[in-house]
Amino acid sequence: MQMLSHSQLETWQTCPLRWKFQRVDKLPEEPQEALVLGIAVHAAIEADNRARLEGQPAMTQDALAAKAQHTLQGSAESALAPLLPDLAARAGVILSVYARQVQPLFHPLAVESWFRFDLPAHPGWAFTGRIDALVQNNAGQTLIVDYKTGARGWGPGHEHRAAQATAYVWAMQQAGRDMPVVVFIPLVVSASIWGYTARYELRRTERTPEDIALYQRVIARVIGEMQEASVTSSYPARPGWHCRWCPYRSCCPAQAG
Ligand code: SF4
Repeated sequence: MQMLSHSQLETWQTCPLRWKFQRVDKLPEEPQEALVLGIAVHAAIEADNRARLEGQPAMTQDALAAKAQHTLQGSAESALAPLLPDLAARAGVILSVYARQVQPLFHPLAVESWFRFDLPAHPGWAFTGRIDALVQNNAGQTLIVDYKTGARGWGPGHEHRAAQATAYVWAMQQAGRDMPVVVFIPLVVSASIWGYTARYELRRTERTPEDIALYQRVIARVIGEMQEASVTSSYPARPGWHCRWCPYRSCCPAQAG
């Protein structure tokens, strides 16, 4: 069975060569600062949601920061080691905003929910992924939530163009749950002369059956392209602004010279 995820879909659409490095060659990824920070913050939020799901009190700001710091230690042997104190500072500021302003908005119902379902239109293929959390808001609505970390807020309407939301709504539909609302929560950290400051955004969006049908057509096209590439061994490089965050820059022929 061949697995396709939304993340893979995005990687393929951005640069087929990057997808090949990751999925076919399975090259080790060079550590990325933004990714390491995101993983640490996600780990802390996941721990908080799990604790609350088990009936324990919400984690304090200090406990969240300690969890993030512990996760960051996993990169202590990498090239990012000198940056770890700075990353811990950024994680701490983000998690203080999370503890004060985001945590009280939702009650977790499920945490890090994995999904996987077959794609009957594409025999031998399945779609897989993971949802950060299913939550109930203070109005009693059940929502899909996805946390993001970054140095910039989202542009106007970005949430309505984020195909990741369509993947999640489709996955819930496959599980027999009609949950058309997704809330992205960008947690934005920026530097100022006083140090780091953070803020959060709530980006709510909905998906319709038509959106899902369109997403399925994109999947059909990408699977066709992947199948063709596996025969021709043609995985073109698509250099662009996204190369700045590519973990394969040092071995990419498009970056040579
Ligand atoms: S550096 Fe750019 S062109 Fe090269 S694999 Fe990465 S994304 Fe593709």
